[in-house]
Amino acid sequence: MESLITLRKELHKHPELSGEETETSQKVIRELEKYEPSQILKNIGGNGVVAIFNPSGNDTDKTILFRAELDGLPVNEATSVDYQSVKKGKMHACGHDGHMAILIGLAREIQKNRPNRVCVILLFQPAEETGEGALKVLEDKKFKELVIDHAYALHNLPGYDENTLYIKSNSFASASVGVEISIKGESSHAAYPEQGINPSNVVAGIIKKINDEFNAFSKSNSGSKYAVTYIKMGERAFGMSPGEASIGLTFRSETDDTLKKCLDWVEDLVKHEAKTFSGNITTNRVEPFAATINSDEGCEVVKIAGKQLGIDVEELDNSFPWSEDFGRFGEKFPITLFGLGSGKDSAPLHSEKYDFNDSLLPAGINLFKAIIDYYSQP
Ligand SMILES: [Zn+2]
Ligand SMILES: [Zn+2]
Repeated sequence: MESLITLRKELHKHPELSGEETETSQKVIRELEKYEPSQILKNIGGNGVVAIFNPSGNDTDKTILFRAELDGLPVNEATSVDYQSVKKGKMHACGHDGHMAILIGLAREIQKNRPNRVCVILLFQPAEETGEGALKVLEDKKFKELVIDHAYALHNLPGYDENTLYIKSNSFASASVGVEISIKGESSHAAYPEQGINPSNVVAGIIKKINDEFNAFSKSNSGSKYAVTYIKMGERAFGMSPGEASIGLTFRSETDDTLKKCLDWVEDLVKHEAKTFSGNITTNRVEPFAATINSDEGCEVVKIAGKQLGIDVEELDNSFPWSEDFGRFGEKFPITLFGLGSGKDSAPLHSEKYDFNDSLLPAGINLFKAIIDYYSQP
């Protein structure tokens, strides 16, 4: 375990942002090579890496995929650990360093003991945080040739009991999407605002209207949430009345269908507000994430694995409001994502104080191993 913790800290020290994970993927490949997979596929959907471990005999009944993520986040690290990020403004603030270490640990276990009848695929996917990586992996020619029966992944959960397994069938993590509203008026001298089209009133109108009406809308579309993520207009100057503005919003829902209703709703609302404005308003959807819909069978397998290992298993009542790019894989084969509690005191995901809890490494590896054992039984 010590060498895995060292590897995890090494990965933590050198984070790379979504789509830029070249060094990380090289490091992952070097580690994987030590454990002699049958095949390593490189540059999958960008910087993605796939390691394939054929079963010990000639027969393959099932092909099971396990996923980790390669990317860090644009966050300035403020932990005081001695393996702090050496890259300013970049940080492993979601624990993907830990998830990678778990899969490397699993590779080591598989080398020691190749499973019967189960082909194991380890996927290190790029660009999870922007919701772009999974789709690119799925569209990759080399990945398309793989026949996958089931994909599993775990995510560490700060604020939840340490080393407790959290599972939920159906929707586990929400669908989400960013909405950019671009408002084009006309700038003018601040002494003559009437000669231009200042967008401030329509910006205020749109935000107020969404705020006033969203509660009523979400009552009939439960599990939906939104947040204003940015508002931009003008400069720190007093001689000019600006002519452009933009608003960023994010919407999330338990299912893809409900999210679509949210988007139709907000786009209608903006269209309606635009009628009161003499400039031009356009909306644009960005960074879409599919809902992560867990397979019933996969949830049962995860529960069996947890109980076998004596790990506490808790079933969640509600899906998480955050999104996981892993959900996209569910469009092609059954998927199951579960959570592993990082402890009540752990700083939240995506925060500058966050650090992956290394005590999760053994449980993560053992759970994945128990899932493989489940499928390799006759
Ligand atoms: Zn994240
Ligand atoms: Zn994450």
